[in-house]
Amino acid sequence: MLTDQDRIFTNLYGMHDRTLKGAQARGHWDGTGKLLQNGRDWIVEQVKASGLRGRGGAGFPTGLKWSFMPKESDGRPAYLVVNADESEPGTCKDREIMRHDPHTLVEGCLIASFAMGAHAAYIYIRGEYIREREALQAAIDEAYDAGLIGRNACGSGYDFDLYLAHGAGAYICGEETALLESLEGKKGMPRMKPPFPAGAGLYGCPTTVNNVESIAVTPTILRRGPEWFSSFGRPNNAGTKIYAISGHVNNPCVVEDAMSIPFEELIEKHCGGIRGGWNNLKAVIPGGSSVPCVRGENMREAVMDFDALREVGSSLGTAAVIVMDQSTDIIKAIWRLSKFYKHESCGQCTPCREGTGWMMRVMDRLVRGEAEIEEIDMLFDVSKQVEGHTICALGDAAAWPVQGLIRNFRDEIEDRIKAQKTGRVSAVAAE
Ligand code: SF4
Repeated sequence: MLTDQDRIFTNLYGMHDRTLKGAQARGHWDGTGKLLQNGRDWIVEQVKASGLRGRGGAGFPTGLKWSFMPKESDGRPAYLVVNADESEPGTCKDREIMRHDPHTLVEGCLIASFAMGAHAAYIYIRGEYIREREALQAAIDEAYDAGLIGRNACGSGYDFDLYLAHGAGAYICGEETALLESLEGKKGMPRMKPPFPAGAGLYGCPTTVNNVESIAVTPTILRRGPEWFSSFGRPNNAGTKIYAISGHVNNPCVVEDAMSIPFEELIEKHCGGIRGGWNNLKAVIPGGSSVPCVRGENMREAVMDFDALREVGSSLGTAAVIVMDQSTDIIKAIWRLSKFYKHESCGQCTPCREGTGWMMRVMDRLVRGEAEIEEIDMLFDVSKQVEGHTICALGDAAAWPVQGLIRNFRDEIEDRIKAQKTGRVSAVAAE
């Protein structure tokens, strides 16, 4: 288990002072100007060497992403945009950083922007995060007043401005190009890629979009060294990670621990075990609502990282772990997610606009058992026609939970259909 000395976020629970004074006392903003003196290439190389992979879900190597930004400006400014639109059901990790340890993010923005030649960065925060916005804005104001950002940030000679933009509550604005559209004042609709944001992003300028946690960990990586960071987790899955565990565990929590921690250890050490014991575990969604669910027995041996969770047919995603015990109506649970994705589809591409509604309506009947057995395969087929055929990843996010349900709990779906036909009510969902 990660020791307290190795935790990057030392105020995740808001027990300490979150102001600049408190943050500095815990080691943040320590020698930031000196770090910048090492130059932008050094910073990118350090982040690459640390093995940090993006913490927003896709797991793309952060240092590599930074290296895509142009070395020389062609006259256009470059931007860093931080995706703080954390809206994935089950995911509530970035909010703890922003409301309790906001200076980690502000310092990270300066360092990352410097490394990419950006003199301005925008943090796009989710509409519902009012208190988080207030805490973050207070931290930004403090950093300006102390000369840590603004003109000649940290005495480095580098000018850097940081802006906080508040979204209006649409899930799709967490998709990076929809976020950029929204930031530009337009409707939050994803753009076709290419061009990728590093070529033409915000206002058509080179832009990197990163998750809050990815940016907030970088100052500590530079201070403690990439070897320290990569000493946690298995190869290709380095570092510490914030996990958000919800559902049927005894103590749901948000906690920072090492990557590749065994699932059982995570639940036992931090969550006080599964409600009703391990035999009561039915299913787990290990990475936020858009990844496929896994049967409980298949999760028990799993470790929490990108590669291991792929092996059990799912994904680490945002590391938002949703635990469901035997009392869960898993068909109804996945139907609820289908309803969510249908509601949040922006509607600009047909497979997603029509497919999410179609999947939701079939799921609706499966919950009640009012369907034919053949429709299960039809539903799977439709989900395959949505997956990979859309402008953005929302199509995949809608398809994967349904596919996970069919792959893992087909027997339960069939039972319910049969029960409905024979009038055997015990297997039918409770209202
Ligand atoms: Fe919009 Fe869905 Fe297409 Fe994404 S996949 S662009 S949310 S319609």
